[in-house]
Amino acid sequence: MSKYWNKKINSAEPYQAGEQPKDGQRVIKLNTNENPYPPSPSCAAVLRDFDISELRLYPNTDAAMVCEAVAAVEGIKPSNVFVGNGSDEVLALCWQTFFEKKTETDKAVLAPAISYSFYPVYSSFYDVRIEKVPLKEGFAVDPEDYCGRENCGIAIANPNAPTSIAIGKDDIRRILEANPDSVVLIDEAYAAFAEGYESAATLIGEYKNLVVVRTLSKSYGLAGLRVGYAIADEELIEGLKRARDSFNSYPVDRLAQKIAAAAILDRDTFERNRKALIATRNRLTDELRGMGFTLPDSSANFVFAKPPEGISAETLYKNLKAKGILVRYFNKPVINEYLRISIGTDGETDEFLEAVREETGNGKDC
Ligand code: PMP
Repeated sequence: MSKYWNKKINSAEPYQAGEQPKDGQRVIKLNTNENPYPPSPSCAAVLRDFDISELRLYPNTDAAMVCEAVAAVEGIKPSNVFVGNGSDEVLALCWQTFFEKKTETDKAVLAPAISYSFYPVYSSFYDVRIEKVPLKEGFAVDPEDYCGRENCGIAIANPNAPTSIAIGKDDIRRILEANPDSVVLIDEAYAAFAEGYESAATLIGEYKNLVVVRTLSKSYGLAGLRVGYAIADEELIEGLKRARDSFNSYPVDRLAQKIAAAAILDRDTFERNRKALIATRNRLTDELRGMGFTLPDSSANFVFAKPPEGISAETLYKNLKAKGILVRYFNKPVINEYLRISIGTDGETDEFLEAVREETGNGKDC
């Protein structure tokens, strides 16, 4: 609290990011869903060849080369793409552009009760009412809960976080059709890790009210670069640009634009890393289940796992931390029984499993 802050900042409840170890500290970091594999070698080539004098000049406002790369890969037009400083910024701009303030409407944004914890933070910061829609048995998002209910917008992470569960394209179609007057935001931060998942982005030609948000932080191994983007009909993209240009018209720097475009165009590295990660995730899932953990099948680059009888999620989190292994523990009702464990390399996963075996008593007799 400070007398120099305005009321809004004094009452803000900011998002709490997962802890970041100090530089040089050796930890196995499985707590913020980063990619364990380095980004495309073509990103390194961009860095090597970058002409420093370019930094004299402001970057392209729209990050046109990133829009072109996304368009080439997705088979859409560059004008259907909006690029921001990480998908968090794109999401924040979506809140400001598409969802109405509570001073203007009684309607709320609908979002799953358990989901990305930034959604309620944006809602409160931008004065948008949010209605948290309870999940069904097993943390399932039921599309019918988003149909026939008044709202000023809908935001769903697909796959959902931290539950790791995805809904299908037909479910999204159902929600879009039931809500022609609201923008439906599908946050696909983790979609690349869903086996057989068909991106909602393929629906933008059919639905003017759909915005799909993606990030380079997870599937491209570029969390440190801060680039994310939205795919939508031009009318929605135009709205996002109006919001951006009322705040910061150069959100993505010159170097980041070049690195991002190179990463997106290197499909081989993307596919290789994605497949390796899925294989490790499936192995981790089997091993944890073998030790008595309860966890849904994950479509993301993390698993959401409840430890077996005898050890609480909180104790396991603390004990792993003492061993230099960071996972994410949420001190909130229901999800405090679970840990969110990001997928690391195979070697990190082996070390993690070994530590878990020691903590849970699994395999001690073998
Ligand atoms: N959406 C979801 C569901 C996430 O978990 C995250 C990562 N915390 C983001 C968006 C934001 O990712 P970034 O800002 O790194 O693009």
